Amino acid sequence: MRDAATPSGIDAELEKYRRLFRSMPDYATFSILKTGEFIDVNPGFERLIGYRREEVIGRTAASIKLWVHPEHRAQIVERLQHVDEMSMETQFRDRAGNIYDVDASMAIFNMNGEALLVATARDVTARKRQERELEHYRTALEKLVEQRTQELETAMQKLKNLAAHDELTGVGNRRDLNTHLDQECAAFKRFGLPASIAVFDLDNFKEVNDRYGHAAGDEVIRAFAQIIRREMRAVDYVARFGGDEFVLLLKGITADAAQAPLGRIRDAVLAHPWSALVPGVALTTSIGVASFHPSESADDTFRRADKALYQAKLQGRNQIVAAVEP
Ligand code: GH3
Ligand code: MG
Repeated sequence: MRDAATPSGIDAELEKYRRLFRSMPDYATFSILKTGEFIDVNPGFERLIGYRREEVIGRTAASIKLWVHPEHRAQIVERLQHVDEMSMETQFRDRAGNIYDVDASMAIFNMNGEALLVATARDVTARKRQERELEHYRTALEKLVEQRTQELETAMQKLKNLAAHDELTGVGNRRDLNTHLDQECAAFKRFGLPASIAVFDLDNFKEVNDRYGHAAGDEVIRAFAQIIRREMRAVDYVARFGGDEFVLLLKGITADAAQAPLGRIRDAVLAHPWSALVPGVALTTSIGVASFHPSESADDTFRRADKALYQAKLQGRNQIVAAVEP
């Protein structure tokens, strides 16, 4: 058995470390701690830094401007007073001036009373670049996701709006109307709360389209919706049934009591300055109204109101007709 304490044992040990030192792929150097002079450098150093071994032995890291941040080396040396070894990410400069990101590890050991510094370093430039690129893509992706989420929310809101509102006038649409009528009818049947359905239709509206075109017709429909909205009671609900026909759900009142609020709307349509929009066309509205009835569905009541509207048209338009009880 060989004794490591014998001179030949030390030589053998040193030879082993020397082979290891020379064969490791990463950068490795020995230097004198106090002066910073290189004692030995391996082929990994030669490859990364671009100096041959003979060129740097006896020179210092400072003299070849190895450390891009010399204060890092000073920090490491200072820390090594207290710990056995130490690592940090820093940057090295090669002979041609290229800068590399490196993971550097250092340790101190004593040989023949002299403090030596052994340093290894691994080139992590590619990894660092990948990390930076990844970070860049991540940030860009996050921004994109945020933007897309925002767009989606806006689209969902629009869709929700479209699902319940008439596009031309902004009042409820036919689907939304059905929901409201069914709910109110259920409340009527359960709690006996009265409510009435009024159906409005403009008189002679076709003349607007015929004389001034479809766009003018749209303007008139919009203005008609505005008038109903402005004049109706705050608790009531309005929807466009289609064309020039609107439906008003009057909550808490019977068809008889609905005459007053409906009369206000009819008068407002009559008084509206239509001539500014469509000169020469006299626009009025006919209205049919029916109260909910215990024997009827909301649809049944709606049909009675619609029949009453037809009656109002027959009787000369610009008037309100209350449906007869079923
Ligand atoms: P009445 O007094 O009997 O109601 O006669 P009217 O001329 O108003 O005729 P009616 O209500 O039956 O006709 C409605 C017309 O509205 C028919 C259709 O061409 C037109 N119309 C339907 N939807 C729209 C629309 O969105 N925009 C426009 N400009 N016209 C529409
Ligand atoms: Mg009409």
